[in-house]
Amino acid sequence: MHEPQFRVGHGFDAHRLVAGRPFVLGGVRIEHERGPLGHSDGDALTHAISDALLGACALGDLGAHFPDTDPQWKDADSLRLLAACHELTVRHGWTIANIDATVVVQEPRLAPHVPLMRDAIADVLGLDVGRISVKAKTSEGMGYTGDGSGIAAFAVVLVEAMSRLA
Ligand code: MG
Repeated sequence: MHEPQFRVGHGFDAHRLVAGRPFVLGGVRIEHERGPLGHSDGDALTHAISDALLGACALGDLGAHFPDTDPQWKDADSLRLLAACHELTVRHGWTIANIDATVVVQEPRLAPHVPLMRDAIADVLGLDVGRISVKAKTSEGMGYTGDGSGIAAFAVVLVEAMSRLA
């Protein structure tokens, strides 16, 4: 049977933004009066990318691998979750070609922090930063991403069979 040499994965995540939580996105802590509510640090971008990686390999989702009932992941640095998902990807014979992600939030303004997020993600995945794209959007005041009550992130990842590269 013909085995595909490339596979695509898609990920989505959303978190409530509440007072008293640090705002963490793409592994970067950003000054803001609210932060994502979650069992881990609530890093929506990193969760979306992690889910996309698992999706590309048909390995289920983040919640199945890292249940929010597990105290091990309480307030966890989500870059650690991403690293674990990447390890699974590699173990199944796939390497990341590129990642493209979009974050939707009204505030804070993310553009100044995007280079740091790309660096943090590239670093944990051991990839050239040129393979990691992060885009920041608002929803023009509409819905939960527009009224400040939430944040959403979407990601797609292309993985390539390691056997193809050997
Ligand atoms: Mg999440």
